Amino acid sequence: MRRIGLMGGTFDPIHLGHLILAETARDELSLDGILFMPTGCSYLKDGRQVADREDRYRMTELAIRDHPGFTLSRMEIDRPGNTYTADTLAQLHREEPDVEWFLITGADAFLMMEHWVRPEEIFALCTVACTVRGSDDRGRLEEAGKTYAERFQAKTALFPLMRMDISSTEIRGRLRTGKSVRYLLPGPVIEYIREKGLYQT
Ligand code: NAP
Repeated sequence: MRRIGLMGGTFDPIHLGHLILAETARDELSLDGILFMPTGCSYLKDGRQVADREDRYRMTELAIRDHPGFTLSRMEIDRPGNTYTADTLAQLHREEPDVEWFLITGADAFLMMEHWVRPEEIFALCTVACTVRGSDDRGRLEEAGKTYAERFQAKTALFPLMRMDISSTEIRGRLRTGKSVRYLLPGPVIEYIREKGLYQT
């Protein structure tokens, strides 16, 4: 069985924090590769306008193109309706039965996961791998892992990550106010944002 990490995200825009998270997971969990999965419709964004899915897909493509261990999927971009991780994992299992899946998450997503749509399916179809970074409360994450194991027979793993306080929200704010975003995201992604005039208003 190949061991593949599933790195889902709104990626609005993708930045070095996402890339370092994926690369650290690859290393720490001895994964054979990482599949990046930009969301189609992130239904929990509180009505906030998210950049067009094709732009987010293209930015992700530009961000990972130099890494032979990173690949990209259109599965969620092409699926109509709200994006649910349970649907994605079910489809991945059908299409690639020889893969063991590891869902890569940050602490916020991990702690919210039992409130996602059909969590029992998510936990049945993958190992959920959560980072512990900086100020994250490791004890709380371990507790959540135990609860998921009891309630859903979930397999979970925690792995350390260097702290990198970069966020898509911060980047969008800097772009709106004309500040530099150099070194926060890959150069080709910055060029794409400039060419398309994204996040200017
Ligand atoms: P995102 O904002 O683009 O973030 C993607 C991941 O990167 C998150 O796990 C986030 O951790 C992590 N991250 C962001 N900045 C980081 C940094 N500086 N250092 C390290 N890690 C960093 O995407 P999202 O909107 O949270 O969505 C994540 C995934 O959850 C998507 O695949 C989405 O479809 C899925 N989701 C599914 C459901 C459902 O099925 N019902 C509901 C909600 C989300 P944090 O979690 O700590 O922010």
